[in-house]
Amino acid sequence: TSNNIEGKVIVITGASSGIGETTALHLASKGALVVLGARREDRLKALAEKITAEGGKAAYHKVDVTQKSEVEALVKHALDTFGKLDVMINNAGLMALAPLQELKVDEWERMIDINIKGVLYGVAAAYPIFQKQDSGHFINISSVAGIKVFGAGGTVYSGTKFAVSAISEGFRNEVGPKIRMTSILPGGVVTELQYGSTHKETLQFLDEFSKNISITPISIAKGIAYAIEQPENVDVNEIVIRPTSQE
Ligand code: NDP
Repeated sequence: TSNNIEGKVIVITGASSGIGETTALHLASKGALVVLGARREDRLKALAEKITAEGGKAAYHKVDVTQKSEVEALVKHALDTFGKLDVMINNAGLMALAPLQELKVDEWERMIDINIKGVLYGVAAAYPIFQKQDSGHFINISSVAGIKVFGAGGTVYSGTKFAVSAISEGFRNEVGPKIRMTSILPGGVVTELQYGSTHKETLQFLDEFSKNISITPISIAKGIAYAIEQPENVDVNEIVIRPTSQE
């Protein structure tokens, strides 16, 4: 019995923690062949072993998504290991929140490199394969910050996520009828994401926020699975998933 996830080869960037890690476990439990990418290779190895021990199939490859050649190598690893590529999940991200007056320009650049360029490199690496196969599915992880600009230091992060939403929506019209393009927009989710901020007051704010408001990654993983498991002629364009108490 196929659930339209079983047997699919799914690359996930940022699979070493949080939403990516939980999504890998969830999709593997539904029979996907997952290919895990991130910089912390020890974590990827442990996760791949866990999936394998539970009867699933996983491979991993160290990747820094700010390096185009490394994203290409990750996708090549999926092809070499499992022979095809069905879904490319561009999930790796950095949230470094701080007020403008802190002028953390280096962090602005890191967020642009990881959150925007990382997604573009993922699209560029997978698209030729999808074209050749005449099938494929991009899933880009944007954010509620991609439809709403928060105060409290979120401006550049929001800018990168607005870009992810715009790029997803624009490319969706260009990829043709056989390739799907989904963007997922989570609200507050308890992960390591908050520790990407170095500004003390912001960290305190995020600590409270995650304790009181945030939801867990499995709800996002299930949203991703929902988009994948629809019949191939159904393109789930956007899913917003936020905690009930988040504005
Ligand atoms: P985590 O910090 O737990 O995970 C981020 C992942 O991205 C890690 O696996 C990290 O792995 C990877 N990563 C970061 N930089 C790079 C890089 N240069 N190259 C490769 N991988 C990288 O956070 P989340 O799980 O929460 O974040 C996942 C996505 O969800 C992000 O795009 C985030 O913006 C988005 N999101 C999260 C929300 C939340 O509230 N948690 C809300 C809305 C959106 P490593 O360090 O090993 O490279």
